[in-house]
Amino acid sequence: MLSVARVAVIDTGGSLKVGQHLRQAIAKVTSLPVLYVINTHVHPDHTYGNAAFLASQLNEVEPEFIGHEKLSTTMELRQEQYAKLNAKLLGEDALGTILVKPSIAVKSSLTLDLGDRSLVLTAHPVAHTHTDLTVMDSQTQTLFSGDLLFIERTPVVEGDVKGLIAELDKLKLSGALQVVPGHGPVSQDGVLDMKKAQTYLQVLLNDIRASIKQGVSMEATMNTAAATEKDKWLLFDVANRRNVNTLYPALEWE
Ligand SMILES: [Zn+2]
Repeated sequence: MLSVARVAVIDTGGSLKVGQHLRQAIAKVTSLPVLYVINTHVHPDHTYGNAAFLASQLNEVEPEFIGHEKLSTTMELRQEQYAKLNAKLLGEDALGTILVKPSIAVKSSLTLDLGDRSLVLTAHPVAHTHTDLTVMDSQTQTLFSGDLLFIERTPVVEGDVKGLIAELDKLKLSGALQVVPGHGPVSQDGVLDMKKAQTYLQVLLNDIRASIKQGVSMEATMNTAAATEKDKWLLFDVANRRNVNTLYPALEWE
């Protein structure tokens, strides 16, 4: 049987406009239909371009939108918050952006047949967020890590730092020949980049734990935690402070 190839899109950018640019870029490379739109997690910079791939925009078939089993509910809960954030950060560029939720939920794993290759989707326990999904292209052994991996830019944790370190341990064993991170350049040495991210996360965890033990406040910890990692990462101050703000209250109850 002749297998017809089809296209899957992994993450769509932060607005309808960005999604449309992505769709136009795909159309320059292939005329094959986009049948799957996969979101690696709930964050708006990964999901709010989804609307550009609706049939009404494409005049083609409606693709399946695919995400972690918790993605749909989480998108709904954060809809108002993210709409405000997008309006503030993007202004006019956010216009027309609507929420498009998954039509297929991944509970543990799902294999998509694209004709010339298959994609293996894996849903993860709480790590970067509680909606993380990674994608492995079986033909090229390329891993799309979503925000489980940041390269060059400071890793961000919204879910569970210990969970994220543990998931990176699993991804190190994936056999990926290259890794496309959620932020940063494509890596030919995914294991090394995962180790770098784990080092930052472990230092952050240790430092916050030490602060809590010594009775140092969260505000003071924001200025000191993971300071030894500062020069290794871009956008360190903003991301690191945000991480302390998320993790300190949770770690107080360890
Ligand atoms: Zn994210």
